[in-house]
Amino acid sequence: YLIVEGLAKHYGDGEARVQVLDGITTTVNRGEICVMLGPSGSGKSTFLNLISGLEGADGGTISVGGCKLTALSSKDLGEYRRRELGFVFQFYNLVPDLTIKENIEVTAHLSSNPLPMEELLRSLGLWEHRNKFPRQVSGGQQQRCAIGRALVKNPGLILCDEPTGALDYKTSKEVLELMERVNREYGCTVVIVTHNAAIARMADRVLRLRDGRLAEDEVNESPVSASKLDW
Ligand code: ATP
Ligand code: MG
Repeated sequence: YLIVEGLAKHYGDGEARVQVLDGITTTVNRGEICVMLGPSGSGKSTFLNLISGLEGADGGTISVGGCKLTALSSKDLGEYRRRELGFVFQFYNLVPDLTIKENIEVTAHLSSNPLPMEELLRSLGLWEHRNKFPRQVSGGQQQRCAIGRALVKNPGLILCDEPTGALDYKTSKEVLELMERVNREYGCTVVIVTHNAAIARMADRVLRLRDGRLAEDEVNESPVSASKLDW
């Protein structure tokens, strides 16, 4: 479903040149949960930004559901992002002047089959908080709202950038359980990037990024339920 071949990306030039991704090749099947591990600065966010079409690659190809991103016009790339993609940002990126419900509704109209709002808010545990503003709810609730915003379009592919980075242990587990449930119920493919190696245990596929290359690309034969993770 997600096929990446020879993906390369650098920033800067001359002395300042950093080769962030240097020939990444992997395949993620439809409906899988894929976790990419890598230390801070290893290029995890860059990888997601390329898959999302937010940034262009220097070389290599990405295809999602048979559609080759690198060959799309900017109009078709926009269409791919609206139709197929949900993105959970590293730092929530909620709109402060919109309520929790409104933040999620923002993207609902981008889909031909959005999830029912009340059902989604209830399953996110946000129904009681729907009319509050982001500053009035906890970090975990803000992160759940960010996940809701990615989910409401019912996308085929959900990209999560360090979804638990700013959360405590208990809230992190709640958020991961939610991702797992969403993956099971809606069959979407989920790619999570994180530096937390424990999260890889819930994955169907584990990638490890090191020096711009994949040091590991393994199928996990016995993924552990998110509720059983420990760190
Ligand atoms: P973290 O775990 O801290 O979020 P990361 O694995 O997501 O890190 P990236 O944000 O992808 O890492 O950054 C990879 C490298 O590319 C870093 O060295 C970073 O400084 C550099 N980099 C990222 N974005 C840019 C940019 N827009 N311009 C120049 N350099 C960049
Ligand atoms: Mg990052």
